[in-house]
Amino acid sequence: MILKLIIGALILFSSLNASNVLNVYSHRNYYADKQLFEMFEKETGIKINLTELDSSEVLTEIQSDGEDTDADVLITVDAGRLVYAQYNNLLQPVTSEKLEKIVPSHLRQKKGYWYGLTKRARVIAYNKKKVSPSQLSTYKDLATQKWAKKVVVGKSTEMYNMSLLAALIAYEGEEEITKWAKGIVGNLARSPLEGDTNQIKSISYNRGNLAIINTYYLAKLMNSKKPHEVELTDDIGIFFPDQGKNERGTHINISGMGVVKYSKNKENAIKFMEFMLSSKAQKIYAEASYEYPINETVEPLELLKSWGDFKEDKINMEYLGYYNHKAVEVFKKVKWK
Ligand code: FE
Repeated sequence: MILKLIIGALILFSSLNASNVLNVYSHRNYYADKQLFEMFEKETGIKINLTELDSSEVLTEIQSDGEDTDADVLITVDAGRLVYAQYNNLLQPVTSEKLEKIVPSHLRQKKGYWYGLTKRARVIAYNKKKVSPSQLSTYKDLATQKWAKKVVVGKSTEMYNMSLLAALIAYEGEEEITKWAKGIVGNLARSPLEGDTNQIKSISYNRGNLAIINTYYLAKLMNSKKPHEVELTDDIGIFFPDQGKNERGTHINISGMGVVKYSKNKENAIKFMEFMLSSKAQKIYAEASYEYPINETVEPLELLKSWGDFKEDKINMEYLGYYNHKAVEVFKKVKWK
């Protein structure tokens, strides 16, 4: 009898304990994450255990642990990675009225495998001393002869480039986009370097006049505490491509989150995702990451607004992952390093 009581108490204790924690696996590491997690803990009494890993490790870790994983929520950047997690059975579909109301349908998986957390725009950065925005128009235009030896881009192994290419393939097909990618490679001012900060540095140093970047990399440099980094941005302009009446709008990507397939704390995980999309959390995120909030009740930062309003491509984010393998093939075919 006593033994039964002890066992019963132990079970009760462990279930209480389990219901008050949430294990978040993330590859984002912003100071704001910690601030937000503390807010969430205070509000809900649910304790967050954060595991921070790099972008590929966060996926392989959950994958290799299988059913034994302690992960409840995955947070990562790039729709391509979220779709990878979805297609490799790392996530489970969850629905919530709040999540569906806040996140526009093209920025979440339709069954609820993942939801966007922040938005990023992949734009053309240009050296104002060399290029006038009136010369710019579309991504397609960057592959034309007029930009020979003037374009800089990152490597083909970077998710953001794969996702841009995947979106273009989704719209125009592999053949057409192979031609485009070939044109870009032919127009390069230098061999691709890793990371968008390097693209900005290149055009600032006149190694190329145009670069394809996510806007927040420029915003980060502009707000850097190091004066030489701020200086780098003096002559850099931002242009939102594909804004014409018959064009699709500028390519958008997301950071996002989903509930892990073998999560032991699903209810807490949903609560957490709802919190992360609430207007107060989104405001803090927008300020820390220089990204566009997903929650439309929150305004982007003044700096982002100063770059102007723009039409966003409304492609469903799942295509960015769906066509990822095609994008990889195209990159190989055109020898984009
Ligand atoms: Fe990034």
